[in-house]
Amino acid sequence: MDLEKLKQQFIEDIAKVQDEHSLADIETKFLGRKGELTEILKSLAGLTLEKKKVMGPKANNLRDWMSEKIADCKFQIADLKWQKIAKSEKQDINTPTLHYPLSTIHYPNGHLHPLSNFIFKIERVFEEMGFEVVDSYDIETDYYNFTALNIPPDHPTRDTQDTFYIKKINQANNKSKSDEFLLKTQTSSMQVRYMKNHEPPIKIIVPGKCFRRDDDATHSPQFHQFEGLVVDKDLTMGHLKETLSLVMRKLLGEETKIRFRSSFFPFVEPGLEVDVTCPFCKGQGCNVCKKTGWIEMLGAGMVHPNVLREGGIDPEIYSGFAFGTGIERLAMMKHKIPNIKLLYENDLRFLNQF
Ligand SMILES: [Zn+2]
Repeated sequence: MDLEKLKQQFIEDIAKVQDEHSLADIETKFLGRKGELTEILKSLAGLTLEKKKVMGPKANNLRDWMSEKIADCKFQIADLKWQKIAKSEKQDINTPTLHYPLSTIHYPNGHLHPLSNFIFKIERVFEEMGFEVVDSYDIETDYYNFTALNIPPDHPTRDTQDTFYIKKINQANNKSKSDEFLLKTQTSSMQVRYMKNHEPPIKIIVPGKCFRRDDDATHSPQFHQFEGLVVDKDLTMGHLKETLSLVMRKLLGEETKIRFRSSFFPFVEPGLEVDVTCPFCKGQGCNVCKKTGWIEMLGAGMVHPNVLREGGIDPEIYSGFAFGTGIERLAMMKHKIPNIKLLYENDLRFLNQF
């Protein structure tokens, strides 16, 4: 009964273990019911008390030590097995880790396009002031886009608003009838259309797409405008100025001031250009505002009596004011964007800045 020899045997055997089966064989060989160490432990009972005292603890220690080695070895075998599986497994990194609750996965959050964001902001500002937001048509008739707005067919203003015309084809002879339809050049096209269908008081804001034959760093063939129209009794330039002043403060910052310059638009009388204090230099004068401290921002004026009449409203009883501007222009000013094209390229490096 040489415990030392048994231990040596165990060490040699366990060094050759390949898998859990050969390990189980070793466990049976030494520690099983009829295992070599088990037999020694059993035989202790027949020894004298003195021998028991010497052999007992040695044999028990060896049993504990062997059990520990076998447990270690089991762990190593299991570990190697998983490493092999992990190496051979083809992982699809695009697969969402659905075994976690969805709420714990962090997908990158998107956000609204800066233009959409600005349009919603404009709508909110006007809605707070009691304006109704009205949709407009992208395809409009020549009448509502020009003629009804005091711009007859031979008016020179049409030259500055060349657009895309849509020919109406006569089905009978396949010849075009007229250039009656066009892609609208201004959201003002909604003015008379709305007046014809609604009684004053009218207080509307019309955001929408516009189209013109323009294409450079600050102009795009397709762009957005918003139009405001208010028709009621006893309206004056004072109402117009206070309305625009409030809106520009809310959109561009509390310190923003506005000023009026006389101008000409066929559908208003008097007509005005509205300047705002340059947001880059706060009115001190810089390269953007050409050292003037002011930036031209809107067109506005009191609604021309001809336009009110065209909408079925008596200019002797009612008056109105209107204003409009390009939404890209406002957004570019607000966010200091140098080129209008950046707003349409959908480049995430640009869009992620907002
Ligand atoms: Zn400036």
